[in-house]
Order: sequence, then structure tokens, then C-alpha cells
Amino acid sequence: MIRNIANIVTHDAAVASAIEYALEHLNVPSVVVCGHTNCGGIKSLSEIEKLRDSSLKEWLKNAEPALKRLKVIMENKGVAFDPCNATHQRDLVISNVLFQTEVIRKNYLKNTHLPIYSLLYDLENGCLTEIRSELTSNLH
Ligand SMILES: [Zn+2]
Repeated sequence: MIRNIANIVTHDAAVASAIEYALEHLNVPSVVVCGHTNCGGIKSLSEIEKLRDSSLKEWLKNAEPALKRLKVIMENKGVAFDPCNATHQRDLVISNVLFQTEVIRKNYLKNTHLPIYSLLYDLENGCLTEIRSELTSNLH
């Protein structure tokens, strides 16, 4: 299991070696990317332009495509992303999980048929839900 701020998948040695070890040595039966509601890392991502230059900001830049993607989807619906809106925050968690799932699939699972699951853990009610587009208010 890899845990880091905003569950980001990168090519750095810590993340890459953990994934490779799980795939090649532990022979895991599946891969799970799981985000959670009320995520401080995602909250920071949503206001990344306000962060001072720091390691945190550099780290979160790896997830910026998820933010940009969500903003485009929302703008196409005439909605402006609001970092203070809980639903928008939840949608950003989901957008990020879907983006990180793509990163793993593209970079680490090219030659396997290993199932990969995108999950959302809801801190309010303890529910773990597989992410599908109909779960989201803004992502379709
Ligand atoms: Zn979190």
C-alpha cells in the first residue's frame, strides 16, 4: 500500500518501486486507487496557486491535470469551480482518483490484465464506493 498526500502516482523512486514490488514480487491480484472525502491534500490542490513555492506545491503539481480537467468540465456546464464548495471538493477527489488510475494503467499496467479499481472512501458514512460517472454531480 502506498499512501501519500492526495494519493498521487508519480515516477519517483518511492512510488515506482512500491508499485513494481507489488506487481512483480507480491503478485497482487488487483490494484486499487482510493481517494477520500474531506481530503486536505485535495483541498490544497484546489488552491494550489495560493501555495508558496515548496515541496508540497511541487508534489501537488503532479495532480494538477485532475483539477484542470474538472474545471473544463464544469465550465462547459456554466459552473465555476469553487474550492469552498464541498461538492466541488468531492468532485475533485473523484477527478484525481480517475486521473491517477489512468497514470497507473498507462505507466505500470501496460503488459498486464490486472484489474484496477477506482474507489472513493466517504469519511462521513464509512462507505467505500467504486467510482462511476453517475456518482458525480459534475463529472460525466
Ligand atoms: Zn487525504
